[in-house]
Amino acid sequence: MSLEPGDPREGVRPCACPSCGYVLDAATAVKGNARPKRGDISVCGMCGLMLVFGPELELLRMPMALFEELPCELQLELMQARALAAYARAKGGLG
Ligand SMILES: [Zn+2]
Repeated sequence: MSLEPGDPREGVRPCACPSCGYVLDAATAVKGNARPKRGDISVCGMCGLMLVFGPELELLRMPMALFEELPCELQLELMQARALAAYARAKGGLG
């Protein structure tokens, strides 16, 4: 399967959320069109769990200690992403 440039699934290995089991197969960068890399942070679009990409780009639950080390602005962006996930859920999914 080939993807259009800029497709949110590009460079993302489908991986189940460690909390809700929803298979996440796309990622959207907060800024620009960056692809995820090891150590990048993310939020489950379904349950809002904060995630970090592991060495194989698998999704891991973000340790609270890591969250606390993040710059304030990033913590804020994560909280906003969680709120957006909750909003999308309330509206009946991501679709
Ligand atoms: Zn989840």
